[in-house]
Amino acid sequence: MKIMVAVKRVVDYAVKIRVKPDKSGVETSNVKMSMNPFCEIALEEALRIKEAGLASEVIAVSMGPAQCVDTLRTGLAMGADRAIHVDSPATLYPLSVAKLLKALVDVEKPGLLILGKQAIDDDCNQTGQMVAGLLKWPQGTFASKVVLDKEKQVATVEREVDGGLETLCLDLPAVITTDLRLNQPRYATLPNIMKAKSKVIKKVTSKELNVEIKSDLEVVEVHEPPKRKAGVMVSSVDELIDKLKNEAHVI
Ligand code: AMP
Repeated sequence: MKIMVAVKRVVDYAVKIRVKPDKSGVETSNVKMSMNPFCEIALEEALRIKEAGLASEVIAVSMGPAQCVDTLRTGLAMGADRAIHVDSPATLYPLSVAKLLKALVDVEKPGLLILGKQAIDDDCNQTGQMVAGLLKWPQGTFASKVVLDKEKQVATVEREVDGGLETLCLDLPAVITTDLRLNQPRYATLPNIMKAKSKVIKKVTSKELNVEIKSDLEVVEVHEPPKRKAGVMVSSVDELIDKLKNEAHVI
């Protein structure tokens, strides 16, 4: 069984985000870009499933500009066997990514498609659900534990929901999206970084996959959040309660 993992290139989580002067979006030039943290978790889970002898190949895929190849190289250095880059200069929203993923799944026929639960740049949390809908595959979103039964062709997914833990049994093939507590992703070691240089990254275009990229959303304007006002030191609990009651009007 093959496992396909979608890895997105995003602004590194530690970078302080700056809005472009024309308010059309977030500044990404000369900014450190990295693999989306939830995608690292998705890839780690795929690698662990393969290392347990339950999968034969892990394929990392990424959609976007040419620099996505760097993200895929990181994925290959972590241990993915090969990678596919869907070259797209246009801004991709979740529905377009989901359509491209479906087209790749139709070609590669993986038994499992694993994605991050959300990308930390757009915080959409939509792509996994959309691609599961397009593929008509069962989905286990926000997975905090995944157990695969190769013989029964079933994935048992534990998910963190408001009331506690929910356990789902998914018939394979299935879509899983990963939550923070699923695993701790590995670092790429130097020998594996060297090995990754000779692994294959195939480039395809949306046209070759017969997917029309049209923008179904328009970003009207991006603003910085209002600056936080400086805090005030209070001398007693009574003063704090008084301020919360009479100044902030929150209690
Ligand atoms: P989102 O729905 O945008 O929050 O993204 C959820 C997940 O979809 C991400 O964690 C990735 O696994 C996948 N994804 C979204 N956009 C891309 C992309 N451009 N390339 C690869 N994977 C993506």
